Amino acid sequence: MAPTPLAYFGGEFIPASEAKVGVMTHALHYGTAVFEGIRCNWNAEEEKLFIFRPLEHFKRLAEGASILRMVLPFTAEELVNITIDLVKRTGYREDMYIRPLAYKSAERVANLKLHELEDGLTIIAVPFGEYIEVPIVRCMTASWRRIDETMMPPRVKLSAGYVNSILAKTDAVLAGFDEAIFLNNDGHVAEGSGENLFVVKNGALVTPPLTANILPGITRSCIMQMAKDELGIETVERPIGRAELYLADEVFLTGTAAHVTPMGELDHRTIGNGAAGTITKSLQDLYFKAIRGGLPKYRDWCVEVVPAPLAKV
Ligand code: PMP
Repeated sequence: MAPTPLAYFGGEFIPASEAKVGVMTHALHYGTAVFEGIRCNWNAEEEKLFIFRPLEHFKRLAEGASILRMVLPFTAEELVNITIDLVKRTGYREDMYIRPLAYKSAERVANLKLHELEDGLTIIAVPFGEYIEVPIVRCMTASWRRIDETMMPPRVKLSAGYVNSILAKTDAVLAGFDEAIFLNNDGHVAEGSGENLFVVKNGALVTPPLTANILPGITRSCIMQMAKDELGIETVERPIGRAELYLADEVFLTGTAAHVTPMGELDHRTIGNGAAGTITKSLQDLYFKAIRGGLPKYRDWCVEVVPAPLAKV
C-alpha cells in the first residue's frame, strides 16, 4: 500500500482523510484546542527517521491542555510511544510533520465554558518539506501586537491564539514579505508568527525573555544550548527594541517548521550586509546536523525510528 497521511484518532490508526469531526464541535467554533508541531526527519544514509524532541513537545501540549482544563488520556511518554507507532505505520521514508491536537470535542454550541465538555485527542503525520521556502527572509513589523498574557496565554499553542499569528502573517505575505515580526503590548520585539527571534550584535547573542509574550520555543532552547556549548556564546534574555533589529549585525528566526532562518531585511532596512551572518550560519549548520541525529552529543534529542522495510517489487 502506498504511504498515506495517517491519524491516531478515536484510539485507532486510520487514514487522516477518514478522521472527521462534526460541525457542532466546540473547538471548531471557539478555538478551544491546543496543538503541537513536531518534525520527524528522514536520514537517508542511516535509513532511519528521527523524531525531534517529541517529549518536550508533548510536555508543552500537556501544559496547554491543563490551561484548557483538559486531562490528556496519556502521559507525555505514552504519547511519544503512540507517535513512534504512527510514524512507523505511515510507511513514509521522507521528512514528516507530526501534529498532535487536543480539543474540546463536545458537540455543543452556545456554550462558553471549558468544564463539563468532553475532550478529544488526535495525532496526525503528513509528509512535510520546507516551511520557509527562501534561504533568507524579508520581514515586516506586524501592525497587530502579539497576544498578551493578560488576554490569552501565548506560552502554549492554543488554537484560538493562532488567529493572531495568521492575521499578521497574511498581512505580511500580501504586502510582499516572507514573515511578520510581532511587537508585544509594551512595544518590545516578541517573535515571528511561528518562530522565535535572536539578534547578534558585536558577537553577543540576545533574545526576548519568556515574559515578552513569546512561545518558549524548543528550537530556541536548542540554539541557546548549542551557542553556549559549541560556540562559547551565552545568550542574553532581555527586552529588545524594534530599532535594535534594524541595527543588528545578524537576526535569525528559530522554530520547528522554520529551523534556523536568517533575516535579511526588516521594514525595508537591510540587516547587517543582507546575507546570512557567521554566527547564524554556524548555528544553522549545527542545528541541521542535530535534527537528523548527526551530532552524537545531541543524539538524545532525537527518537530514532526504523521504518518498515520497503516492499519487494
Ligand atoms: N513562536 C510561535 C508563535 C510558534 O508558533 C512557534 C512554532 N511552534 C515558535 C515560536 C517556535 O517554537 P518551537 O521551536 O518549539 O517550534
